Amino acid sequence: MMNTLTLAELSARFGVDPFPLEQVAARYPFRLTRYYADLIQAPGDPIWRQCVPDLAELAHDGQLTDPLDEERLSPVPGLIHRYPDRAVLLISNRCAAYCRFCMRKRQVGCGNLRFTRDPAIEYLAATPQIRDLLLSGGDPLLLPLDELHQLLTRLQRIPHLEIIRIGSRAPVTAPDLITPELCRMLSGHHPLYLNTHFNHPRELTPSAAQACGLLADAGIPLGNQTVLLRGVNDNQEVLAKLFTGLLRLRVRPYYLHQMDLVRGTAHFRTPLARGMALVAGLRGRVSGMAIPHLVVDLPGGQGKVPLLAETARQVEDGWLVQTMAGAQVLYRDPGPTS
Ligand SMILES: *Cc1c(COP(=O)(O)O)cnc(C)c1O
Ligand code: SF4
Repeated sequence: MMNTLTLAELSARFGVDPFPLEQVAARYPFRLTRYYADLIQAPGDPIWRQCVPDLAELAHDGQLTDPLDEERLSPVPGLIHRYPDRAVLLISNRCAAYCRFCMRKRQVGCGNLRFTRDPAIEYLAATPQIRDLLLSGGDPLLLPLDELHQLLTRLQRIPHLEIIRIGSRAPVTAPDLITPELCRMLSGHHPLYLNTHFNHPRELTPSAAQACGLLADAGIPLGNQTVLLRGVNDNQEVLAKLFTGLLRLRVRPYYLHQMDLVRGTAHFRTPLARGMALVAGLRGRVSGMAIPHLVVDLPGGQGKVPLLAETARQVEDGWLVQTMAGAQVLYRDPGPTS
């Protein structure tokens, strides 16, 4: 079983008052692996902020519990179908550790641990325009090996499902879960992709590197989704180190998410302009391979939209494109060649 730490143990280790932490955890569950707790160097540091309850979570911030309207966009329980050709299947409410900034704070760690997946699978089978399925939750890699194997087998019998993507934070918070047996099983289910969730370079440990290496060796293309978090990674040095460090682990930075407007997470939010400036500052400084798309998931289920600094503007005889150095260069659009 997974080696976790209680709030009492954690507060004793760092000499902090457990009472406020417990108060918050009564509303939003707490779970932490010993492995991830060992990455904390001091209360309030970037690892602590991600995993330890904070009274700010209980502030009346005027936000919704489900601003992305995931529940309205669920034709059957546990399946979110927002874009025409792809959908998200929620596997469970469990993760190895609960992130305090989670966009699904309303459900992780709460209530029923097992979903009935049959209605979702029937919906998928009856909806041929869905070609790309994301397994999320909760963390799909917390399922027992044979249960995950059976689920993948059932899904892959649906002929129009071309690819499956797993979203998992296990390489970050519980790298021991990534075993050779798991990877062998997964490698029987290609084409399979995995997006993980590193937020800070201190998470790039030898154990995390080993976990990613096993997955990559199993032929699974690895991507990473980072959430831009105030006081954790809203800093150019930190992001440059994180994204280049991920490439060394064979993980390609995919998205940098503007924090969703989820109740209980306001203390993590940065202004939109901050993320745009940070990403603009990375251009030219690190490889394009190391730069994820900065996206904001618009409220009301309107979808993810990339945020780009204004670098190109159409003029009469082409495009004025701005270089890193700020010069305006005229690029003549050749147009279609026939
Ligand atoms: C993010 C998301 C997806 C996947 O989007 P991509 O841009 O293809 O990675 C699919 N469905 C929902 C509901 C999402 O939030
Ligand atoms: S691992 Fe993902 S789903 Fe689980 S608590 Fe963290 S952000 Fe939420």
